[in-house]
Amino acid sequence: MSDIRVRFAPSPTGPLHIGGVRTALYNYLFARKNKGAFILRIEDTDQARYVQNAEQYIIDALNWCGLDFDEGPGKGGAYAPYRQSERKEIYRQYADRLVQEGHAYFAFDTPQELEAMREKFKSKENPSPQYDHVTRPQMFNSLTLPKEETEQRIREGQPYVIRVKMPESGEVQFQDLVRGEVSFNAALLDDKVLFKSDGMPTYHLANVVDDYLMKITHVIRGEEWLPSTPLHVMLYRFFGWESAMPQFTHLPLILRPDGNGKLSKRDGDRLGFPVFPLNWKDTDTGEESKGFRERGFLPEAFVNMLAMLGWNPGTEQELFSKEALIEHFSIERIVKSGAKFDFEKAKWFNEQTLRSKSPEELVMLVKPLLNSQGIQRDDFFLQKFCSLLIERVTFLEDFLTQGAYFFSRPESYDEKTVKKRWKPESAAVFSKLIEQLFALEEFSAASLDKFVHEFVEKNQLGMGDVLPLWRVMLSGVTQGPAVFEIGALLGKEEVIARMNAAIALFGK
Ligand code: GLU
Repeated sequence: MSDIRVRFAPSPTGPLHIGGVRTALYNYLFARKNKGAFILRIEDTDQARYVQNAEQYIIDALNWCGLDFDEGPGKGGAYAPYRQSERKEIYRQYADRLVQEGHAYFAFDTPQELEAMREKFKSKENPSPQYDHVTRPQMFNSLTLPKEETEQRIREGQPYVIRVKMPESGEVQFQDLVRGEVSFNAALLDDKVLFKSDGMPTYHLANVVDDYLMKITHVIRGEEWLPSTPLHVMLYRFFGWESAMPQFTHLPLILRPDGNGKLSKRDGDRLGFPVFPLNWKDTDTGEESKGFRERGFLPEAFVNMLAMLGWNPGTEQELFSKEALIEHFSIERIVKSGAKFDFEKAKWFNEQTLRSKSPEELVMLVKPLLNSQGIQRDDFFLQKFCSLLIERVTFLEDFLTQGAYFFSRPESYDEKTVKKRWKPESAAVFSKLIEQLFALEEFSAASLDKFVHEFVEKNQLGMGDVLPLWRVMLSGVTQGPAVFEIGALLGKEEVIARMNAAIALFGK
């Protein structure tokens, strides 16, 4: 293993959005490509936003996608525990250290006092004033209060937070592997809370401390964290950890299909596609959201589609197995601009992935689905069935909806075809066809093809007098694989039985 260590650090605040899965995927691909370690760390320090089952959902989603982690909850590792709520004791000492060294301070301001500050400093240019070097001298904190009063307030158990003390001037710069040099004006950054009155660290403190302690070398995360990065860089500086600071990579947003803004659950609901990997049920509202898995996507196709949302190999190639993605992946080829989500394209990935399967693999996938419907057939039959339908399916379920007639007789027949094609003489024609089919020795698609052509010719008929009706008799519908193939797979006995049943019905 190399020294490269990356982490996926979701907060269990709800189901993982596909953007989160993509972040996990890019971390995974980068780790595997570089023979490094891929770590799952659960960032659950925000108790107010904690959602039961969300952690299990995250793990289930990673498992479904085949993104196995090397260290994490339930798995252990050299830097366990990997759930921040279980690391609670660790963070306070780091916050205290920053206070002692003058990089952070205690702040006692009540919500009303914070509100009053915002009111007081509000202006046209600055509609929402923040707690920073401008406002902090006016507030109740250990920088403005006499030392004794600070100590007394703490002794008395008054609630307080620990805030970082951001510098009043200068630039905070860092290299982002996708964006190049990024620079923020320190004077505009606020004194974010590092430690809360509930005894928990905030995301910023816990995230930086853990990345440091877990020897993370690369932080690969969504673009929404870019504005937090200058604070994180400052924390590395304050702690004297600059030489161990990870390399930052911020991934582009996944956009709505029309490119107007970030893809949200609402867009999915409105446009009829999932934005989550797996089904999710909100235990509070009872609301259910569909997942790609339940919508019929194969995990390989989902992963392939996600990989291409924000990354490309620099060639025209679009279809990749997970192994091929690992081989080709590089951070340099991640794009800067947002990637538009396209559900039609997602479906295309699923179709292509299904088509890349061998007949044996397809049978393995289709069989459980058929079995669940009480359908049992031998593998030989199912292989043939799959190969006949493969060009017509997008999802596994389509095998069943498109090919139901292979397993049971049609319950209805395309009316238009019957109306248009069934003539007074048709009953006689098809009865004769049945007689001759009965005598036919070889019942393969090729022999049926040849036989029916000869039959049409000998009886001075047109193909249109026989084929459309014959197809409807066998399948009920007008679309499908070649009718000779359908006939051959159904077998002589079944073909004749279906024809007899249809003749009786159409002739009425
Ligand atoms: N807990 C953060 C999240 O939910 C992690 C961001 C990061 O990777 O630093 O996305």
